[in-house]
Amino acid sequence: MANMQAHKTEMPVQPPEVRRANFEEVATGYTIEQAQQEADRCLRCKHRPCVNGCPVGVAIPEFLVQIVEGNIAKAADIIQQTNTLPAVCGRVCPQENQCEKLCVRGIKGEPVGIGRLERFAADYALQHHDTADKAAIPETGRRVAVIGSGPAGLSCAGALRSMGHSVTVFEAFHKVGGVLVYGIPEFRLPKEIVRQEVQHLVDMGVAIVTNCVIGRAMTIDELFAEGYEAVFIGSGAGLPTFMQIPGENLNGVYSANEFLTRTNLMRAYDNRSDTPLLGAKRVVVVGGGNVAMDAARCALRLGAETVTVVYRRSLDEMPAREEEIHHAQEEGIQFQMLTNPREILGDDTFAVSGIACDMMALGEADASGRRRPIVVEGETITIDCDCVIMAIGSSPNPLLRMTTPDVAFNRRGCVEVAAETGQTSRKGVFAGGDAVTGAATVILAMGAGRTAAQEIDQYLTKLS
Ligand code: FAD
Ligand code: SF4
Repeated sequence: MANMQAHKTEMPVQPPEVRRANFEEVATGYTIEQAQQEADRCLRCKHRPCVNGCPVGVAIPEFLVQIVEGNIAKAADIIQQTNTLPAVCGRVCPQENQCEKLCVRGIKGEPVGIGRLERFAADYALQHHDTADKAAIPETGRRVAVIGSGPAGLSCAGALRSMGHSVTVFEAFHKVGGVLVYGIPEFRLPKEIVRQEVQHLVDMGVAIVTNCVIGRAMTIDELFAEGYEAVFIGSGAGLPTFMQIPGENLNGVYSANEFLTRTNLMRAYDNRSDTPLLGAKRVVVVGGGNVAMDAARCALRLGAETVTVVYRRSLDEMPAREEEIHHAQEEGIQFQMLTNPREILGDDTFAVSGIACDMMALGEADASGRRRPIVVEGETITIDCDCVIMAIGSSPNPLLRMTTPDVAFNRRGCVEVAAETGQTSRKGVFAGGDAVTGAATVILAMGAGRTAAQEIDQYLTKLS
């Protein structure tokens, strides 16, 4: 008989008044007893609806049983059969819209805390270096180049390597992990976790070349000329979008991408780092997604006295994960909803002094299914601030488009692929993740990387 408690076993967290002043992880993770108590809430449903909600099809009830029985390494192995980065996904996946949304326990009460348990099993395996024996992989002698070391590139590389192919990942930055290291902050995803997950791939034999911008250091044509037989593009969507309103060139305006890269990758929060970042006291963050929540919570931890999130729709339409909104509210971030900037104001030194906004109302639903924001004529507000962070979206960097004429890109600058295979318009070149979809999620990027790996494997087999 399963544990019939209606609510999830509580996740231990740092208290808001403490964590708002540090960059350490907010949620500290289950003990083994808490994990077993939570895993025992699973009903082991025969039709496994939760698995259908997982974009990579993790065998959820099967790994939960292993946790209940105390076989944590086995649980981690089951997850790793389909998920290359489980300690990451357990922390950042929007489970409330995926596996947990379909969990039967959610009908009368809260769903099983699948994400928390995935994190628990993956962390346990990392801490104990305790995964089941892996048989030596037979080498195929085929060479594949992967562009970008974000979740798409890493999952593609891991899957191809486990099929026996020789894989080299080329990364533009000096650190591996894509958004996982340059975007998502330490307090949500410790970089040590990413490093260990990457090390696991290196141990499997994946080669990684950092500080190498494909399109500059080498083109895709040159990769083929070097002897790579297939290429996977997983270069993400790192080019920030601005609103094109007056004042965006004032001192104190950042794209979220730049602000987070300076804070996380360049460690501006660490006193020992030389990375310059404005010591802003009153910060406005424009946007409503995970990126906006991360920028706001970083600004707070960097010493801002007030941080206000300005979003043009209402709280219900905000795309950020529920947990991140909740944590941001607990930490004292203010939310100014139904508000859309029209101009950033500056003083006579060209520094930001405020932001003038239109008030909005919600109209009919648009193509995304969310109600369209409409300007309320004559209603405006001005918020005093010394820093504005724009977190309204991003698109793929045009470099690969400009240097690879025979790969087709769409009008949004995304690589065009066959959805089921990741095949681009050029033979032997595949793509997936944000480079194809525009800014999306870690697990969708990983799923696309995995799918492409299977197709690349078939493609390479046909070559012989
Ligand atoms: P990326 O992670 O962007 O990786 C692409 C990599 O390619 C980068 O390292 C880049 O440097 C490299 N690259 C680019 N061009 C080249 C080139 N020419 N040559 C070599 N290398 C190149 N998703 C969630 O599911 N949950 C969250 O909580 C969440 N929070 C987020 C918070 C922030 C701040 C951001 C920015 C995104 C967040 N996302 C979240 C979205 C998620 O991180 C992305 O959807 C995901 O990382 C996309 O993976 P990717 O591998 O396609 O691209
Ligand atoms: Fe367990 Fe929920 Fe999946 Fe059913 S739907 S098997 S209760 S996790």
